[in-house]
Amino acid sequence: MYVVATPLGNLGDITLRAIDVLRAADAIACEDTRHARRLLDHYGIRAPLLAVHQHNEAQAAEKLLSLLALGKRVALVSDAGTPGISDPGARTVAAVRAAGFPVIPLPGANAAITALSASGLADPYFLFAGFLPAKSGARRQALTALRPVAATLVFYEAPHRIAETLADLAELLEPCRELVVARELTKLFEEIASMPLPEGPAWLAADGNRGRGEFVLLVSAPPPEDPLPAAARRVLTLLLPELPLKQAVGLAAEISGAPKNALYELALSWRDEQL
Ligand code: SAM
Repeated sequence: MYVVATPLGNLGDITLRAIDVLRAADAIACEDTRHARRLLDHYGIRAPLLAVHQHNEAQAAEKLLSLLALGKRVALVSDAGTPGISDPGARTVAAVRAAGFPVIPLPGANAAITALSASGLADPYFLFAGFLPAKSGARRQALTALRPVAATLVFYEAPHRIAETLADLAELLEPCRELVVARELTKLFEEIASMPLPEGPAWLAADGNRGRGEFVLLVSAPPPEDPLPAAARRVLTLLLPELPLKQAVGLAAEISGAPKNALYELALSWRDEQL
């Protein structure tokens, strides 16, 4: 079974290999047959379609396995981007692999990676969080749990929840973090806007069109944790004028329990400032 990424909006965003594989397929498993037909018609692809969605993934997998058992070539696509990424597909892939058939991925469009590539955010890690829970309490709980993660956070969001999500992000995460809103990627009204996180709700409210379409939200990583609590700094401040630097650092580390090397670096930076 081939797992084939399809465009996010712009029909040109499909690979040559994906077109070849879809053309040669005996059947194409898809989320929504009308949606898939539009893409396939564009490329003159006529293969029969088999609907695989959230509610029938188990039965559809059976049908798909019977085709594979007959030696048929089957391709799996979703409505947009890469199947299995905030889309159905994972259970089908698991069933096909468990039955011993090869699963061949064809890489291509993905909204999260597309947004990250144009964001300019330079954190070394990112965490793909997908859609936050729809209910306010669960959403806020999820955001609170994500707050300390030392990575760019990547969310998917739909137009009917964008306002609530931007408000919760602004309220629950640190105000020094940067927000990138990537809207309608690859489409006519594509927009990629960067702003300090607390400004998200005002940015959205400033223009009615900004609430339309599909969204990827990126939030830069939290500020690095200060390894030195205020109490450790205070001990060092008191000891430094009284003792040689090394001794003051050693004692401050013992008294406060803070890491000696961080205290040492701080003491050196203070001394350099005074020179
Ligand atoms: N499988 C897809 C992928 O690989 O990115 C994502 C499918 S998920 C059901 C749909 C969500 O992806 C949308 O609600 C939106 O958050 C995001 N998305 C899809 N297309 C997008 C686009 N053109 N611009 C911005 N976000 C998009």
